[in-house]
Amino acid sequence: MRSTSESISEKVSWCGTVVSIQPRTRVWRYITHNRTHYHLGYNLFVEERWAQDSNAFTVAVSEKQQTKGAFRIGDTLQGTAWTPKFPNREFADYYRAGSLKALARAEQGVVVDPPPFTMAPPLLSVYEERGARILSRSRWKGKCFRCIWANMANVEIQWDFDRDIKRYRFETFCYGPKSCKYYAMGRTPMVPYKDRGSFPDDGSLDEILTEGRGEDD
Ligand code: SF4
Repeated sequence: MRSTSESISEKVSWCGTVVSIQPRTRVWRYITHNRTHYHLGYNLFVEERWAQDSNAFTVAVSEKQQTKGAFRIGDTLQGTAWTPKFPNREFADYYRAGSLKALARAEQGVVVDPPPFTMAPPLLSVYEERGARILSRSRWKGKCFRCIWANMANVEIQWDFDRDIKRYRFETFCYGPKSCKYYAMGRTPMVPYKDRGSFPDDGSLDEILTEGRGEDD
């Protein structure tokens, strides 16, 4: 279980095979009037296997690191990173990655019919332009997990504007085509505000945030 308080950040060395690459984002919520997505970089979901055992973890990398390394699903990487100071605000197990090195590259030429979309992820400006819809958490964990359009966001809820008090949680989103057969919104997220209960984000913000594209874009 994740700690809700400040932790001591420690430097780690890691090594493993990339099983998914998704955008890393922060989402600011204020009741249901505003949901703003900030695109920070990418999350590399990595598996470390030895003998009969395996260990899965998430490493946050910058856009510059992803662009330079052109990392793809199936690559075996090593690097350093730090554990998060606020584990309740950062989904990635490790961030501030450094000394990234590809030890082995994924075999090229294996084409898998989407969905899920498993090609190299686009630049962050593409995610920004497309906009996101709420995605069911069970889809994120299951059918959508390897998709470049899937996203686990670090969410910051403005709970009290006057005293600038925020609440934190993680939520799942999809930047992919609206017509994707795997898409399901799942449970309506409720957004709390001090002394005023909780308000449903029922999908109308999704329509606004993705109004620039059609069903198959
Ligand atoms: S629903 Fe979205 S995240 Fe899931 S496979 Fe389709 S495009 Fe990808």
